[in-house]
Amino acid sequence: MNNHDLTRRDLAVVWHPCTQMKDHEHLPMTPIRRGEGVWLEDFDGNRYLDAVSSWWVNLFGHANPYINAAIRRQLDDLEHVILAGFTHEPVVRLSERLVAITPPGLSRCFYADNGSAAVEVALKMSFHYWLNQGRKDKTRFICLSNSYHGETLGALAVGDVPLYKSTYGPLLMEVMTVPGPDCFEREPGEDCEQVAERMFEAMEATLARHAHETCAVIVEPLVQCAGGMRMYHPRYLQLLREACDRHGVHLIADEIAVGFGRTGTLFACEQAGISPDFMCLSKGLTGGYLPLSVVLTHDQVYDAFYDEYTRLTAFLHSHSYTANPLACTAALATLDLFERDDVIGRNRRLAAVMAESLAPLKDHPHVADVRQHGMIAAVEMVRNKTTREPYPWQERRGLAIYRHGLKRGALLRPLGNVSYLMPPYVITEEQIRFLAQVMMEGIDLACRD
Ligand SMILES: *Cc1c(COP(=O)(O)O)cnc(C)c1O
Repeated sequence: MNNHDLTRRDLAVVWHPCTQMKDHEHLPMTPIRRGEGVWLEDFDGNRYLDAVSSWWVNLFGHANPYINAAIRRQLDDLEHVILAGFTHEPVVRLSERLVAITPPGLSRCFYADNGSAAVEVALKMSFHYWLNQGRKDKTRFICLSNSYHGETLGALAVGDVPLYKSTYGPLLMEVMTVPGPDCFEREPGEDCEQVAERMFEAMEATLARHAHETCAVIVEPLVQCAGGMRMYHPRYLQLLREACDRHGVHLIADEIAVGFGRTGTLFACEQAGISPDFMCLSKGLTGGYLPLSVVLTHDQVYDAFYDEYTRLTAFLHSHSYTANPLACTAALATLDLFERDDVIGRNRRLAAVMAESLAPLKDHPHVADVRQHGMIAAVEMVRNKTTREPYPWQERRGLAIYRHGLKRGALLRPLGNVSYLMPPYVITEEQIRFLAQVMMEGIDLACRD
């Protein structure tokens, strides 16, 4: 088996995610035979450094020996069991540990099997909470401009990335979209904290007018990843927490991408010192091994569903693979590695190397912004550095970086005109410098006229 053979068979039967399949008439597909640590190896023996953690899920490398061993052990005991009326040790232990490490107050874990499903759960649970309280009028949600919460219809509705959302507009519930605190949009002389405070006025006004009919505000804490790794100051989350309490509206923190150390703390909400009413986790939850997601909430929500069956207040939502034991085991092993290796501390040094090695790009004539939150660093290309006029999306400038990366042995899949590093935490300082070098070469190629 070689790259060519497998690609040919693939193109005959597989339909790939988030892909215009016709692109593969000219864009090569990369069939991966094996992974080890930060490396992916194809069928012709080429290696690629996984700079995007395979879509932001991998934390401790591919084929991690510790996580592999844990899953193998679990496999001999129990692969799966229904979670209604039954339970198993991995889900109990995982729930105990998640409650212990997430922000204070979050005390209950409800599981699903992917990020979008977790967002659906949080939206339904918030709505249903208010209904159980007799608040039939609360049926709406508030989200931020440029947000992303997944691809299923409810999750897509509370998102705001036109590329994914516009087509399906007629199918989606109506939401209130408030201009967000994205620091890329700062005025001259303003810092990110000032942007957060200024932009919060729009949120406050929307809450003041619509709180009576609003279930929840949903946000991605600190980094809007799919929206081009746009970042904002934690001050916004503090103001939002306070306002949601004052107006009687839930706060949903979608930490699906930023949770588990990505922004420099175990959870992004920690940097604002807040606890949300619902926290959605997935992606890094299993270290990038198996599909699993969880929504954590507090006792007040849980108690509002707890009653005689005939009152029909129960949350009758389920997925076939809810809290799969193998996935829970991968998550437990992932948490072991966080505890064993002082990952957050080591990441601080790695993040400093990311900052230092990307810093030269600040002076690039077509780079508008080099931004970073912990282990996420992004570089945004523009046509005009002074006016920040973007390159037209039709030019697909980012693809040049992607192609160049593959040639040089790096998986650098861009988001439009944004190139970023979001590597597994087992990366070395030298490998970060290599990625930064390849990205800089790629940006030079992408910005050539
Ligand atoms: C990826 C992502 C989702 C959706 O998760 P899936 O597992 O891809 O359905 C939701 N919210 C955020 C912030 C994400 O980055």
